[in-house]
Amino acid sequence: MALKYHPDKNPGDREAEEKFKESAEAYEVLSDPQKRQRYDQFGHAGVGGASGGGFGMSMDDIFTNFGDIFGGAFGGFGGGFSHGSRRRRVNRGTNLRVKVKLTLEEIANGVEKKIKVHKYVKCSECSGTGAKKGSSYNTCHTCHGTGQVTRITNTFLGQMQTTSTCPTCGGEGRTIEARCPACGGDGIVRGEEVITINIPAGVADGMQLSVSGKGNAGPRGGINGDLIVLIEEIEHDSLMRDGNNLIYDAYISFPDAAMGCSIDVPTLQGKARIRIEPGTQSGKVLRLKGKGIPHLESYGRGDLLVNINVWTPQSLTKEERAILEELAHAPNFIPKPGKNHKTFFSRMKEMFG
Ligand SMILES: [Zn+2]
Ligand SMILES: [Zn+2]
Repeated sequence: MALKYHPDKNPGDREAEEKFKESAEAYEVLSDPQKRQRYDQFGHAGVGGASGGGFGMSMDDIFTNFGDIFGGAFGGFGGGFSHGSRRRRVNRGTNLRVKVKLTLEEIANGVEKKIKVHKYVKCSECSGTGAKKGSSYNTCHTCHGTGQVTRITNTFLGQMQTTSTCPTCGGEGRTIEARCPACGGDGIVRGEEVITINIPAGVADGMQLSVSGKGNAGPRGGINGDLIVLIEEIEHDSLMRDGNNLIYDAYISFPDAAMGCSIDVPTLQGKARIRIEPGTQSGKVLRLKGKGIPHLESYGRGDLLVNINVWTPQSLTKEERAILEELAHAPNFIPKPGKNHKTFFSRMKEMFG
């Protein structure tokens, strides 16, 4: 039934697909003694809650269930099924991990980094095949190139087969006539490669990027592993990062706070000049919209928050002291926070949300 209604033979045929799923259900029940018992006792409800054929199994599950059948029990069909037929094992190289240190400027703009990585590369002597020059691969005599060995057993359904990885070739389906002396037959050797990594704007400390296929080479013509890039952020001299916002601590003198002034604030795009209004209190937060870090993989950027600190002199000359003593009891110099004065708590909420 499964062969008759196989999707490869009935492309786009919904009815055939349903029949195929039903046969998968029957196969699953019949091949599992426990499920068979429950089915006999309770019927369909006994073996799964999901509605429809196949107990809600995905097509992949079904193909896995049928794998043994399509693998060869029905002989010549094996090659014709793209899903069901198992493939020979492909060697995969291991993943590599590297750290990349980035400045806030690099993070804000995105950056291309070239790094030299020590890793397994294809052996140049044998072009990665692992075979000595002049020699070649032999088809594995144990599995005849399939990479699998099968065992036929008799069951009530008829002949059934179980399949396992070939012990002679480890599933590769082939063996080497003579090993390459440079790599000992692995097809890979220690080497290095300069890899260009494109780091998008907005990454953060601790994030990992995966560069597909840039890890260690796979043995004997296998596929490469991935390169995992761990992001490390270098602390900025004057800007602190909080999510995608930046925070700058600005210090102004008391006269500047009282009479107003303009100050330069460092940003990741150069200096920005901002106006401090007369009567500005220490702890006021000014927000430079969009001067923060771009959001990773979306639009917009964070802000730059400028935290104003009014500088209190830490030592005074005689003259300075004399002037301050004169002002100490002047009416406007006596603190009088009104209703609209921002408390420490409200300022923190403004900064950190
Ligand atoms: Zn080699
Ligand atoms: Zn083999």
